[in-house]
Amino acid sequence: MVDDLLAPHRHTANNRAEVEASTLCGCFYCVQTFPPQEIVAWGGLDASNFDDPDAAAGGTALCPRCGSESVIGDKSGYPINAQFLTRMHEAWFQRTIIRTPQKKK
Ligand SMILES: [Zn+2]
Repeated sequence: MVDDLLAPHRHTANNRAEVEASTLCGCFYCVQTFPPQEIVAWGGLDASNFDDPDAAAGGTALCPRCGSESVIGDKSGYPINAQFLTRMHEAWFQRTIIRTPQKKK
């Protein structure tokens, strides 16, 4: 049951193309939904990649409501609704899931 909350989190980084192709986005920090057109700020660049055109074309959506990098679009295949966003919020921000570290496959 944990993996289904870990996987969608990966869709919150460098997700510009996916978010812009979505019809509805949600933020699991503030648990709000909004159309991708509302997103006006994109992050994800840092000193290691700010001059990398691929990184610049990527970008990570910043929530238009709270500024958090916790935006996921419905193009990810996940349901963008209050129930899903609340589950993600609890898992990632309230740390209600206890998980032992695993090596990446
Ligand atoms: Zn938000």
